[in-house]
Amino acid sequence: MKQMHTASLAELSAALHAKQFSAVELAQFFLSRTEKFDGDLNAFISTDADKTLAMARAADERIARGEAGALTGIPVAYKDLFCVDGWRATCGSRILENFVAPYDAHVVAQLNAAGMVTLGKLNMDEFAMGSSNENSYYGAVKNPWDLSRVPGGSSGGTAAVVAARLAPVALGTDTGGSIRQPAAFCGLTGLKPTYGRVSRYGMVAYASSLDQASPMAKSAEDCALLLTAMTGFDARDSTSLQRETEDFSARLNEPLKGLRIGLPREYFADGLDDDVRLAIESALTELRALGAITVEVTLPNAALSLPAYYVIAPAEASSNLSRFDGVRYGYRAPEYKDLNDMYAKTRAQGFGEEVKRRILMGTYVLSHGYYDAFYLKAQKIRRLIANDFRAAFEQCDVIVGPTTPTVAFPLGDKTDDPVQMYLADIYTISSNLAGLPAMSIPCGVGQHDMPVGLQIIGPWFSESKMLNVAHQYQQASDWHTRLPEMAR
Ligand code: GLN
Repeated sequence: MKQMHTASLAELSAALHAKQFSAVELAQFFLSRTEKFDGDLNAFISTDADKTLAMARAADERIARGEAGALTGIPVAYKDLFCVDGWRATCGSRILENFVAPYDAHVVAQLNAAGMVTLGKLNMDEFAMGSSNENSYYGAVKNPWDLSRVPGGSSGGTAAVVAARLAPVALGTDTGGSIRQPAAFCGLTGLKPTYGRVSRYGMVAYASSLDQASPMAKSAEDCALLLTAMTGFDARDSTSLQRETEDFSARLNEPLKGLRIGLPREYFADGLDDDVRLAIESALTELRALGAITVEVTLPNAALSLPAYYVIAPAEASSNLSRFDGVRYGYRAPEYKDLNDMYAKTRAQGFGEEVKRRILMGTYVLSHGYYDAFYLKAQKIRRLIANDFRAAFEQCDVIVGPTTPTVAFPLGDKTDDPVQMYLADIYTISSNLAGLPAMSIPCGVGQHDMPVGLQIIGPWFSESKMLNVAHQYQQASDWHTRLPEMAR
């Protein structure tokens, strides 16, 4: 079999069952790669080898008893906004620096039950606000393909560890693109599920009507395995959907003959870099060779998705983040005059600049007199955007286009200009507003030899179809097997 760091989850699982190596050896392998490379990447916020190895020993015992499943003994790492019992959950913020989660998030509990082994907690933009992972209190994460470039955000740590093969698979979240954009920048496969598929219980909330936990992996095949274990109804999240559980691996091998791919005119217009466009076009040629047909579709309100998102997401964030007040948990300013002063100083010292900007924007758009002009209008636009997709999906089975307008940019390139930073998510945000599933897969290289991501957006609950498209493409191409230098 291939080496541990390039093997698929299915190959790792087969090797564990065949006793080619133990879960402890597998965990040790990734822990030692982390020790070697994470100094450069800054992708982990917490590791704890004792805890990891204890879980690996338990997995080995389970395998020995013959009670193991497809994910037993496979290591996984979590973006630092998932509560993992006994581990810190900082959310990339100073305000949660010393917060130790007293329980498991629903997804974490599901993956624990499957026998996965926790490798650690991953760096991220503070409260998942950002597109470059430069907004973390714990410092920026570097892109494994080029340490002078960003890995994307906000799940930058998640992308960096999978790209550098410090973990076979990792979890992030996607509120406006935070799994797909870093997947694109780091040459990975990431999938944001339909809103409501995965319980948000135990995830630190950013914008609750948009947030979804998402897998990041080396391939669509690996994504499918993980997604199957992550999904399922949870009564503790009121937006969790009651649906039959689905095996997302079941339809990977269906042929693509006759698949109708919609190409939104608006996603191939000005603002898309030529190198990205070229890579997307050659992926489309490949998909046509597999039997797909392409049709032009239109999403007339696409240009409104960014402004609508930057009203709705900050509005929800301003409300969600009001709980960080120095009273209940987290950081409290050491010196203050009275209660109000304590709140003010705690939040002034505990939150970073971007988080404060969002709280101010959100409070503004929700305030009396502005609510109708901004918040209500943004909600109406949100409906129009969903209607555009509904109409487009009458002409096609999936929508395909670029994930991002550019390849990964240099560190510091956009930190002084928030609007330029927000534009990095121009193609990803609309699917969050509509609640649609969407994924990114590697489809080529652009300038500076950096990876390019192809975005696949499907109708609600079409994850199996999207994974099928992605897997067939990956059977016919090898972009997803390219490795950055540190993983060769
Ligand atoms: N970049 C977007 C933002 O800053 C999206 C972040 C995300 O998906 N968590 O809000």
